[in-house]
Amino acid sequence: MSRYIASRAIRGAHLLVNEAEELLRRTMAQYGPDAPVAFPNTAYYLPVINGMLGIQVERIGQLEAVLQHARKLLHPMPSDTRWMPYLGETLDSGMATLFAAEAIEALRFVRGEEPQRLPGFHMAGGSFTSPDAGLGGNGAGPGKGGNGYLNGPIDDVQLRSWGIQLVDGRMPGFAAIVGCAKSNEVAVKIVRELQRRNILIFLSGNVNGRSIIHQLMEEGVEMGYDTYIVPFGLDTLSAIYALGFATRSALTFGGLKPGQAREILLYNRARVFAFVLALGEIDDLKFAAAAGAINFGFPVIADTVIPQILPTGVTQHEHVVSMPFNTIPGKDDLERAERLVQRCIETRGVKIKITEVPVPVPYGSAFEGEVVRKKDMRVEFGGKHSRAFEYLRMVPSEQVEDGRVEVIGPDFSQVEEGGAMDLGILVEVAGRKMQKDFEPVLERQIHYFINGASGVQHIGQRDIAWIRISKGAADKGFKLEHLGKILHARFHGEFGAIVDKVQVKIITDPALHAQWLEVARAAYSERNERMGSLTDESVDEFYTCTLCQSFAPTHVCIVSPQRLGLCGAYNWLDCKASYEINPTGPNQPVRKGDTIDPIKGYWTGLNAVAQRNSQGTVREVAMYSIMENPMTACGCFECIVMLIPEANGVMVVSREDPSMTPAGMTFSTLAGMAGGGLQTPGVMGVGKYYLTSPKFISADGGFKRVVWMSSVLKKTMAEELKAVAQREGDPDLIEKIADETICTDVEGLMAWLEEKGHPALTMDPIF
Ligand code: SF4
Ligand code: ZN
Repeated sequence: MSRYIASRAIRGAHLLVNEAEELLRRTMAQYGPDAPVAFPNTAYYLPVINGMLGIQVERIGQLEAVLQHARKLLHPMPSDTRWMPYLGETLDSGMATLFAAEAIEALRFVRGEEPQRLPGFHMAGGSFTSPDAGLGGNGAGPGKGGNGYLNGPIDDVQLRSWGIQLVDGRMPGFAAIVGCAKSNEVAVKIVRELQRRNILIFLSGNVNGRSIIHQLMEEGVEMGYDTYIVPFGLDTLSAIYALGFATRSALTFGGLKPGQAREILLYNRARVFAFVLALGEIDDLKFAAAAGAINFGFPVIADTVIPQILPTGVTQHEHVVSMPFNTIPGKDDLERAERLVQRCIETRGVKIKITEVPVPVPYGSAFEGEVVRKKDMRVEFGGKHSRAFEYLRMVPSEQVEDGRVEVIGPDFSQVEEGGAMDLGILVEVAGRKMQKDFEPVLERQIHYFINGASGVQHIGQRDIAWIRISKGAADKGFKLEHLGKILHARFHGEFGAIVDKVQVKIITDPALHAQWLEVARAAYSERNERMGSLTDESVDEFYTCTLCQSFAPTHVCIVSPQRLGLCGAYNWLDCKASYEINPTGPNQPVRKGDTIDPIKGYWTGLNAVAQRNSQGTVREVAMYSIMENPMTACGCFECIVMLIPEANGVMVVSREDPSMTPAGMTFSTLAGMAGGGLQTPGVMGVGKYYLTSPKFISADGGFKRVVWMSSVLKKTMAEELKAVAQREGDPDLIEKIADETICTDVEGLMAWLEEKGHPALTMDPIF
């Protein structure tokens, strides 16, 4: 154990606790002890304090107790030479530092000093925290931002939307980078290497006023939720948000309760892949903050000379690793940066799969959210001025030459800069385990696969696909054939168990384009018919999904043709394909068994599987009722459906809607009631497309029970909801449903329903 680190961490902790006490005193004098304090858009209060101490801080006066606790954790400053600090003192100092840092950040929100401003800064994708964003929009749309605010804390909506990826391993975890890299070039290389591995990147801190955030901004690297790069703030203190994120992960996904400090730390140590990368000189405060991270089992890797803490104990591997940048072997700084990132990953000890895709631009899921703006665009396919479609079909094996990519027709070199052209992507696959039903499952992946290329943007699907290639990507040599190369590599990588051979035709020739568009459209409508005829009655087997049991151990989704998984990511066909790919995986077929009640949706086989998977906490599950034995939820639901007794109906709140609801709670607060694998009659987490199913709470009266619904759902699902209204025999039904722009309380809701004559008011009592 290095006494050097301990003594510097202890000194840093003293400094910061003093500072927090001083700021609290001043802020109390100015605003009074009852002034409200909160991080925006989270139901977890000040998360580290809440998780570790079980104190739900809502008023600044409560921070006194928190800081008293922090002070108790401080150890005397080492003064005499015989004094030998041990790891426990470093860890205590780290904890004290975290409490003090979180308190200071919270007080800064009260004082209007958080989130921090950085003139000229632009956020890719949304942040809820910037004051300019307001609460009305979800702020997650591409291209939003530019208001100069750094992110500050991550909101619950974003945490949960990353949830599935964190759980199924697509996103291994996060890197908290603090400080400033040796050069801008090195800064960019480091984040690109992390993005390539789908590792979330949190940025904070500076060295002599200069931060990696400045460096990336100068190099035009897009930062924001969409690119997995979250700039917290320019000072070391803002690194606290990384540990707030880690704490909330344990509370959200680990089913742990505030105050279970030990369990939360162990959860992170065992399950959360994260590390701290300290760039540049390390001061006392950074040592203290690093000590805080070690409490969570996250190792600290520094690119400067510091004493190492190598024995494994609290972290699974080394606690502190020193890797002075200039001593890293490599032919240049870029290679050194790459080795540094590799070392970070080895230290935390996780195998990370990178799909090597032969394209001349960086490639990885982190680029999926990248936006190509019109002014940066070389060429587009689809959208307003042209038509792009994509169609995947299975063909007999002898008709596929694996790896063949053909561009049929002219490439885009003839098109003027910023212009458009027609495009068709025809993917032909063959495989012994391939089934016609898997065509749409695979075809939907085209969106994610193409989007993974940096500088290429993909929106939509089928014949409303829309692809943009940036000037940057085109300059690096990105050509149409690369679309095919990506698809070939990724389909083999992810679906190798069902496809043996993949060939791709990129069609720009006008006559062929028109011809294939017709073929594709015939296939789409055939699939639509197939989906329409695929009812719960027409199959004998549903599927279970237990992917979320790693954090919600008693939850199982039962996925039927007419009810998709509550995260929205897995429908019945997806589960069927996933079972083919991995027969011992999380999706298992379950025979319905004998029908007990076809209206409420009880079957003997489903009850048995619900009992088994919930370790007995659930006895029965009704597929079609919210009032009686509703399906349980983990934490990933797209929407929450909740009974509004006064209205004789239900409301539907979207994860993307931060506003108040007539139930008197926001989505974040409701999420705590809906999740955790428990059955709560009257509350249910669902996938948003379940709303359009004829089986949506059909035992309780169906879609006509919906009296209030987040406007984002009305907007994004306008077509589908219109069809539902028709089906229900009430074409104006959607207009009769209130939303947050109309009312956020029961009185307002009742007035609206009366005025519009909503059918729920005259239906049978819901309970
Ligand atoms: Fe989790 Fe259910 Fe989605 Fe499976 S279907 S990933 S269990 S939420
Ligand atoms: Zn889940």
